[in-house]
Amino acid sequence: MSTKASTPSFTTDEHGQAILTTVPITLAYFEGRIYYLTNCCGASGKGSIADGIPSIVCRKCYRDVDDVFADSWQVDDEAAWARYYSLVRADCIADAQARQHVARVRRTAEQAAALDAGRHVPAPLSAPAPVLTDAVKSLLIDWFPVRDRLYDLCSKDLLSDREIAEIEEKRRELVDIGDELVAQFVPDAQARFAITGDLLP
Ligand SMILES: [Zn+2]
Repeated sequence: MSTKASTPSFTTDEHGQAILTTVPITLAYFEGRIYYLTNCCGASGKGSIADGIPSIVCRKCYRDVDDVFADSWQVDDEAAWARYYSLVRADCIADAQARQHVARVRRTAEQAAALDAGRHVPAPLSAPAPVLTDAVKSLLIDWFPVRDRLYDLCSKDLLSDREIAEIEEKRRELVDIGDELVAQFVPDAQARFAITGDLLP
């Protein structure tokens, strides 16, 4: 892919609006909508009923502007692009030029929309590395040697009475450490049943 294809063919103004073209009227794209910007303020138009007369005014200075400033559309709106063509064609541009201009502006709008969509794609969820508290670390430090000793004892073929007693002792120690570890993550019955899905007794 050439660098030209990945470089946006529009500028973005201080409000985050993509400026698609400035002729014959400035056309902007923002969050899925395409709309004209006024010559006076570079703002969009809006409906007004000042003095009881409905009109379209500049959103910033409230001057009356052409009805075309009330128009806005989405990138895939064919009828709207046809309206835009009529407007461009009325600006005394030859038909072929007008079609070229509309096609170019539409491609730019599609590019702005694609970039916009890319920005809104949520980052893929990945499991964060667990951050261990000092309490959890200290419990794990106790856990491993007891667990290793239990493995060693259990792997023996012949066990003395003392070793059999030690196995019982190590098992109790592991259950105690395990319970304390679990308590670090699941502090009460409410939290436990929220995880297991069981109803509180
Ligand atoms: Zn204005």
